[in-house]
Amino acid sequence: MMTRKLILIVGLWLGVSGGVHAASTDITGVRAWPAPDHTRLVFEISAPLEYKLFTLKNPERIVIDLKQTRLRKSLPTGSVGFVKRLRSATRNKNDLRIVLDTRKLVKPKTFLLTPNKTYGHRLVVDLYDQAKSGTKIKSSQPVKQLIESGLRDVVIAIDAGHGGEDPGALGRKGTREKDVVLSIARELKKKIDAQRGMRAVLVRNGDYYIKHRRRMQIARQAKADLFISIHADAFKDHRAKGASVYVLSERGASSEAAKWLAQQENQADLVGGVSLDDKDPLTKKVLLDLSQNATQEDSHTSAAEVLRAMGRVTRLHKKQVQQAGFLVLKSPDIPSILIETAYISNPAEEKNLRSKAYQHKLALAIVDGLKRYFERSPQPGTLLASLAQSTQHHTISRGETLSLIADRYRISVRSLRAMNKLASDKIRIGQVLVIPRGT
Ligand SMILES: [Zn+2]
Repeated sequence: MMTRKLILIVGLWLGVSGGVHAASTDITGVRAWPAPDHTRLVFEISAPLEYKLFTLKNPERIVIDLKQTRLRKSLPTGSVGFVKRLRSATRNKNDLRIVLDTRKLVKPKTFLLTPNKTYGHRLVVDLYDQAKSGTKIKSSQPVKQLIESGLRDVVIAIDAGHGGEDPGALGRKGTREKDVVLSIARELKKKIDAQRGMRAVLVRNGDYYIKHRRRMQIARQAKADLFISIHADAFKDHRAKGASVYVLSERGASSEAAKWLAQQENQADLVGGVSLDDKDPLTKKVLLDLSQNATQEDSHTSAAEVLRAMGRVTRLHKKQVQQAGFLVLKSPDIPSILIETAYISNPAEEKNLRSKAYQHKLALAIVDGLKRYFERSPQPGTLLASLAQSTQHHTISRGETLSLIADRYRISVRSLRAMNKLASDKIRIGQVLVIPRGT
């Protein structure tokens, strides 16, 4: 069917009308952010400009024609993401043509960005992998416990906020939120994967940006039982400090439910695998609300447990779970929480956020909160749910030792250590231990 050699994606000049003045725009820099499913190119421009973009085949390439534009910096050499090579040429004396030789057939999307705190005017070119769009992300993780018990692990999707062109909040020492939250996310994944019956999936695992809806989609494809978005707060008053945990506010939730309803193609897997296609609008709404109410409740429970556990290792900004209309929390079918780990704008907390020891401590606390949550809300068919029936949990408080706890439950220190995979007798306040029931 695709016999045409040239596919005109955009036939009209896009961007801002140049008007009569012939002042030219400069390209002062180019950045590239390769993600697994797309490559983003960002052209730093001195002012908004007019441009035209089209795709050519055999070999695959993208052509961008920019009116009244000069290249002030040489284009990056070498390949990045889906782009094999960037080339440029002057056209009609004052115009510029940029050609992107691509590795494969990609679907381009472009838009102009206005200046923000970090960057000036930009032209963004996103190249989406056509083969990959809509396909599932590959899960490289073996399912740990399936052989042992026939029961599945609970899956936690960890979403490091921001990324790529979006640095998030900035610390006074130049720490970028997108970097520290990725470190914390990776640390958290390590700790979760070390737990029996738990497995984590990183939504973002590199320096690139993912749209909010795509973040939720990745979690859904991984069949996540819980979605955790990791962030760091900032405030103009550098004294503001402490961690907070958020869930979606009711208002945000209800309007989003309506949006989901409008998207026919997304509905099939929304309500526990029940297809909504053949349901009338009212039934759809009721089903979706039911699913969303359950999800909201689970979001609250998990947020409260994580907040409590974090309170043992770090100062809290707010002692209660907070609510806000964060877009990334708007999954109607997966309980979702957002953790503001600390204030990056507070010098002491900025230092903490960069510290490996602090990241480690924080990740351990979050895992403790998660264990408590999955104990309170057992997920059917999971190893954790079956363990919860035969075991109970003990949270370590000040002054307790492993032998004291062993005595209390009439169990040997040795089996207590074995059950909890403890390498030594070292325990910490807030740590959650598994104890066999009936002891
Ligand atoms: Zn953030």
